[in-house]
Amino acid sequence: MSPVIELSDLAVSGRTVLLRSDFNVPLEYDENGNAVITDDGRIRASLPTIEALTSAGAKVVILAHLGRPKGKYDEKLSLRPVAARLSELTGGSVAMADDVCGESAASVVRSLGNSEIALLENVRFDPRETSKDVKDRVSLAETWAGMADCFVSDGFGVVHRSQASVTELAQLLPHAAGLLVAREVEVFTKLMGSPQRPYTVILGGSKVSDKLGVIESLLTKVDRLLIGGGMCFTFLAAQGYEVGDSLLEVDQIEKVKGLLDSAQASGVQIVLPTDIVAADAFAEDAKTQVVSASQGIPAGWTGLDIGPESAIAFAELIESSHTVVWNGPMGVFEMAPFANGTRAVAQAMTKVDGMSVVGGGDSAAAIRLLEIDESAISHVSTGGGASLEFLEGRTLPGLKALEGN
Ligand code: AMP
Repeated sequence: MSPVIELSDLAVSGRTVLLRSDFNVPLEYDENGNAVITDDGRIRASLPTIEALTSAGAKVVILAHLGRPKGKYDEKLSLRPVAARLSELTGGSVAMADDVCGESAASVVRSLGNSEIALLENVRFDPRETSKDVKDRVSLAETWAGMADCFVSDGFGVVHRSQASVTELAQLLPHAAGLLVAREVEVFTKLMGSPQRPYTVILGGSKVSDKLGVIESLLTKVDRLLIGGGMCFTFLAAQGYEVGDSLLEVDQIEKVKGLLDSAQASGVQIVLPTDIVAADAFAEDAKTQVVSASQGIPAGWTGLDIGPESAIAFAELIESSHTVVWNGPMGVFEMAPFANGTRAVAQAMTKVDGMSVVGGGDSAAAIRLLEIDESAISHVSTGGGASLEFLEGRTLPGLKALEGN
């Protein structure tokens, strides 16, 4: 990928800068229906760029999305709680507009002084943001561009999307990559170059179909691929093992068999769990048993975590590697009885002698939920899908758009 334009190459002092950030944080609602941010990691990750812009005297207007509101206003997905948290973190007040690009947004932007910050409403409240029709996206981007002088793209979690606030805006205004996007690009470019070996990738999470593309391209690059999470059951089924009521994508079994064959042919070790924590219900207080993968999971039982023997084996393979990328939890880590596999992998990541990269909202959230020492990991990426598409060698439209002014 050609280099993106850096923030230091963009004149921002006294100018109005539209900043695309990734504030897509997990929310819970209290008994009064108020949204509570359960993990503010993405807001914190956006702070260096925001601070760089305010200290350079820019008027900072932030564009961001939250959840999937399907193109219309949804109070539950308003960015107001994010504005409140951002005000606390920046130690100042963040002006919040009531709309995405209407009168309120225009008036908030007009009254902004140098070094001040404003946040517009959830960009996905406007159906043009994610429209498949480029004319819609351009029309929304033009409205924003009319309010500002330049554009900074710092939402790594969305750079694999062609959306108005990601791609079209970059075509309309002088632009640069924010510090977070620049750092993410640097790390993933390094991984695509010549990583120190052994190079191990651990994949987990629920869906195997999302990850087949990246697995296929990783087979030409890595030494070992460890597979856990809900997706491992399609692999175990492809090997002929019983998986009980576990997550299974039957229509992917043939493709997975093909991947297992190509891995063998290219000398890449695909490591699957040898034991599984199975539960009689998808619940924190379910009855559990550890079963060996080759014996199979009995009917009526669901595999919700990799077992203790697998956790030790995965940790040893991670710790003996010099480059490790981890994307996707090993089990249903949100419930304590099924968090041990994810914890073992996360802890092993902190012991890698070399480069350790965690990608994906869920794995990053797991690191914080399980109170893993984040400073011992080389890089915790904010982008799950984007980091996988980068590793797959695909062109990311939101990065392509930042290559020239
Ligand atoms: P993804 O969205 O594909 O990254 O998957 C993340 C989700 O996968 C998390 O919420 C986990 O709870 C879930 N998950 C991981 N392992 C399993 C499993 N064995 N069965 C069901 N869900 C799982």
